[in-house]
Amino acid sequence: MLKTEAERHFSRELLNWYRANKRTLPWRANRDPYRVWVSEIMLQQTRVDTVIPYYERFMDRFPTIKALAGAPEEDVLKCWEGLGYYSRARNLQAGARMVMELYGGTVPDDKTAVAGLKGVGPYTSGAIMSIAFNRPEPAVDGNVMRVLSRYFCLEDDIAKPATRVRIEKLAASLIPEGAAGDFNQGLMELGALVCTPKSPSCLPCPVMEHCAGRMAGREQELPIKTKAKPPRPELRVAAIVAGTGANTGKVLVRQRPEKGLLAQMWELPHVLLTKEQEPMLAAGESGAKEQEAMGELLTKAVEADAGLLIRPRRWFMDAEHVFSHIHWTMRFYLADLGAAGEEAKAGVKSDIAAESAAAYETLPPGASAVRSPYRWIGPEDMETLAFPNLFLRILREYWDSIEEGEE
Ligand code: SF4
Repeated sequence: MLKTEAERHFSRELLNWYRANKRTLPWRANRDPYRVWVSEIMLQQTRVDTVIPYYERFMDRFPTIKALAGAPEEDVLKCWEGLGYYSRARNLQAGARMVMELYGGTVPDDKTAVAGLKGVGPYTSGAIMSIAFNRPEPAVDGNVMRVLSRYFCLEDDIAKPATRVRIEKLAASLIPEGAAGDFNQGLMELGALVCTPKSPSCLPCPVMEHCAGRMAGREQELPIKTKAKPPRPELRVAAIVAGTGANTGKVLVRQRPEKGLLAQMWELPHVLLTKEQEPMLAAGESGAKEQEAMGELLTKAVEADAGLLIRPRRWFMDAEHVFSHIHWTMRFYLADLGAAGEEAKAGVKSDIAAESAAAYETLPPGASAVRSPYRWIGPEDMETLAFPNLFLRILREYWDSIEEGEE
């Protein structure tokens, strides 16, 4: 198909610019498909500067597909801890296991096979095929859609799947012969360094001469993108339960289920508030009444789930975490252990204690016995267990406060 002067200019100038200006990044040391794959998964929704130390640690720990495929999932999550979007790590490992089983441990030079690996979507398969194998496949993410929308002054809404398909076709048609890897990386690099979301640097831009968006004075308003729904707010209350006896200095944590959000990561026990309970946590209502109500909620939950009677003592801190679709606001309370087993057996008139008296009978003696997936941990266990950022932050604050003698 005949190309316009603007298209030829774009392909040529971008490629020259990339080859002369590309940043030295650890995943660019060679074109090993496994290295490319890991880097592309880590770079999704994450800045290059943040990814670099994680990438280096990950490649040291899991230098080959075989090493990654054979590692316990806990180790992989631990290495990913702090990067967020943990399903990426799980899918990456599942994909590595597929490569071991189906392709003898080597990423195949085959678009359909690569696109069929767990966690590999159209962007990642395009990136692997073009960067590792130099195949003329487009790799279109938000950055690339922004650059091409501006350069060709496209009005299509980039939030729509049909627009992505159109831009993928356009990006594929622009790939210079024999230079797919460098061209695709050039597009990503231009989007990251020059044609940035808020303030495109048009003057030093290598393709500015034919940029239709710039010539129309529309570089700031393109691309068109309808807003995604804001994350759903959820209010939660959590307990930092201090251990006693052999568990002094430790806190109670639990492991999340095998499937779903933050699967298999560790966390402090917490409860999601119902719509009716949410006003109790609203600003200005954090007094004794609220503490009592939240304390009771937590006590019931930990009792039913872990088999421990706890006594929430006081507010510790509030924290937030925003996932792509959920926004957690969490209030943390410090809690001590109650002598639950003894109270229940002694017939104390407590609904909670009475309800769970039978459960205690089956537990080993001592108030600190807990049911799986709960366990007691000290600061040293943070080296091996993987926690989401939110809980890492709180646990560090807590142990710091103990060291400083505040608790
Ligand atoms: S000239 Fe400006 S708007 Fe056009 S591609 Fe370059 S940085 Fe982006």
